[in-house]
Amino acid sequence: MAKIAESVIEEIKSRISMVDVVSRYLVLHRKGDRFWGLCPFHEEKTPSFSVLPEKGFFHCFGCGKSGSLFDFVMEMEHLNFPEAIRLLAEQAHVVLAEETPQEKRHRSEEETLRDLYEKLAASFSYILSNTDSGSRGRDYLERRRFTDETIKAFSLGYAPDDPQWLFNFLRSKHYSDDILAKSGLFAKNNPTYPLFRDRLMFPIRNWKGQVVAFGGRDLSGSSKAKYINTPETMLYRKREIVYGMYESLTELKKQQSCMLCEGYFDVLALH
Ligand code: ZN
Repeated sequence: MAKIAESVIEEIKSRISMVDVVSRYLVLHRKGDRFWGLCPFHEEKTPSFSVLPEKGFFHCFGCGKSGSLFDFVMEMEHLNFPEAIRLLAEQAHVVLAEETPQEKRHRSEEETLRDLYEKLAASFSYILSNTDSGSRGRDYLERRRFTDETIKAFSLGYAPDDPQWLFNFLRSKHYSDDILAKSGLFAKNNPTYPLFRDRLMFPIRNWKGQVVAFGGRDLSGSSKAKYINTPETMLYRKREIVYGMYESLTELKKQQSCMLCEGYFDVLALH
């Protein structure tokens, strides 16, 4: 999106009360010039989280977290800065600068791709749990002793063996050739041939819980690559995403520590 003018930020601040915004997430009580509540960033029984509306600033005396209205919304909604501005601008009825046609196209492609990945993850998961062809995946998971609970929590799925299925499925949902080519789901030299066939599918989510890529474990026993991943796309930058991070967020915040491990199944097993 366009670079955000300082005036927009000032206008949002002048029109929106920080106490109102924070109060959507926790109960605040006034004491002197501060408002106090239970901190949403760490677990506590007595309030050490405070808001200074005059200064447009929050601070937690328990975990030390502090920042502006925008920092608070970014943290609570898992947004980046421009996204937080967009959200608050909407709520404050502040008009943002127009996007350039190029930015608009980019954003619309990104939204289409997100939608595609969500639909596909749901379909892979349906196929795994409810169809005959999915039994290959179910049997494999059973042998490795993963429960339905884990399968559900990580939305595991199954990509059918049929090399026509993916292309036909996505075309039936009216995705364009151009979007399919940018999706990272098809072979570079054959735009209808799927990268993932007869594989157990691991949806990879970003911080916000949106599916942005897949990992796939071969079930045929005949593929050279036991595991493959979606290549980088407009949604997926490998250096920014750790598999299982989203699913661990609540616990991570409580513990303030984590264990890193290498494989998809290691993540599942440790959970
Ligand atoms: Zn805190």
